[in-house]
Amino acid sequence: MTDNPSAAESWDRMRTTLPQNFGDGVWSSWLRHLDYHSFADGVLTLSVPTPFLRDWVTTHYSARLLTLARQVMEEDIKRLNIYCRDAAWSQFKTRDLPPPKNVAAADELEKADAEQSFGTASALDPKFTFDNFVVGKSNELAFAAARRVADADKIPFNPLFLYGGVGLGKTHLMHAIAWAVNKRAPNKRIMYLSAEKFMYQFIRSIRFRNTIAFKDKFRSVDLLMVDDVQFIADRDATREEFFHTFNALVDQKRQIIISADKSPDDLKGMEERMRSRLGGGLVADIHPATYELRLSILQNKATDIGLSLEDKIYDFIARRITTNIRVLEGALHKISAHSQLIGKPVSVDEAAFALRDVIKAQEKQVTIDHIQRRVAEHFNIRLADMVSSRRTRTVVVPRQVAMYLVKQLTPRSLPEIGRHFGNRDHTTVMHAVNKIEDLKVRDSQFEEDIELLRRTLGG
Ligand code: ADP
Ligand code: MG
Repeated sequence: MTDNPSAAESWDRMRTTLPQNFGDGVWSSWLRHLDYHSFADGVLTLSVPTPFLRDWVTTHYSARLLTLARQVMEEDIKRLNIYCRDAAWSQFKTRDLPPPKNVAAADELEKADAEQSFGTASALDPKFTFDNFVVGKSNELAFAAARRVADADKIPFNPLFLYGGVGLGKTHLMHAIAWAVNKRAPNKRIMYLSAEKFMYQFIRSIRFRNTIAFKDKFRSVDLLMVDDVQFIADRDATREEFFHTFNALVDQKRQIIISADKSPDDLKGMEERMRSRLGGGLVADIHPATYELRLSILQNKATDIGLSLEDKIYDFIARRITTNIRVLEGALHKISAHSQLIGKPVSVDEAAFALRDVIKAQEKQVTIDHIQRRVAEHFNIRLADMVSSRRTRTVVVPRQVAMYLVKQLTPRSLPEIGRHFGNRDHTTVMHAVNKIEDLKVRDSQFEEDIELLRRTLGG
């Protein structure tokens, strides 16, 4: 954000001094994720990609960052604020996390952390079971694979690699496996943790010089689950250590389950040998939920929380909230709260009102750039061809598809869209939209293709 260009510039300057002021380790593990967000009323706001990073950086480094900012930046900075820039998280998770820590609490946390760093892994959510997981076309492979791992006496495939976008049920499935294995074989040592947690325990072990204990701990489990490994894909030391742990466990014939937001092949930062080993077992992707799945998840969750809504309300939510099941659940809770407040069942208009922010936030997420990338990937053409003047059919149709999807999924006007596609005229965009609509009617395979793309883009 550049609401205040000079503050943004002074932040850029300050940022370059961070490695030297905090050391390369702290820089590369934590501080390099900081981005400038805004500066107003003496408050400098920086952002990080995850709530965990927010808490960690706030607790450990915000005081020093503030002191440094006061020295290095020209602005009169009174306070420093660090927030989580991932919309899905900040919208639905910040409430659930502890409030920003004051100094006393920070000390507590540091102490608890030191004690716990070799204790147990993350707690499992009792709601994340197989029974509570609604299966549909988009997640049936991942579900079947998870069940297989949980029920099998011998390791069926190693590792199981689950991938898919945010909020589509990866963590839910991992916890479900843990519960099921624990029930079937209580003696098995199961460890579930996020890749970030793996990273920070590893870094701690280096700092406290007990890497041996760290290694022992991870290499003595029967089932290791590491969630969201994309977070360590480009962190050299942690990634190496993770890979050693991984190999050691595979050699000892222990089951490993990994999740990420991308396929092994697309994990940037991982070397080829790692990617091929991560993908060497079963790779199961979870697609964005279909309308039918969204609808049945909503109905299930509503029953769980003792809520009963008219069918058209479920239909409305399932149509408008398409990207993320966590958001879908959040929407249901909002409707529930709203209906309690007004003391009667909500109408569609009231539902739309109660969800206006959620719907707006989700619409904002689809950008032209994102659509162009996805479509280029899908048709296997270069991103540059979205804006190039090439006229061969192999690039013309994908380009038209992208224009069509931008028109469908964003509020952009035709001239605006034209500008983003290599300065084309708005009539060209209109022609593209008509052409694709036409093709969809005539070719059902093509139509399916476009629908799939639209869904992966959250439309
Ligand atoms: P991810 O780890 O992929 O980001 P989560 O596993 O945290 O997603 O899922 C987000 C939320 O959506 C959780 O509350 C989870 O219970 C719910 N959820 C996801 N998929 C399903 C499903 N198929 N059935 C029921 N709930 C689901
Ligand atoms: Mg998750």
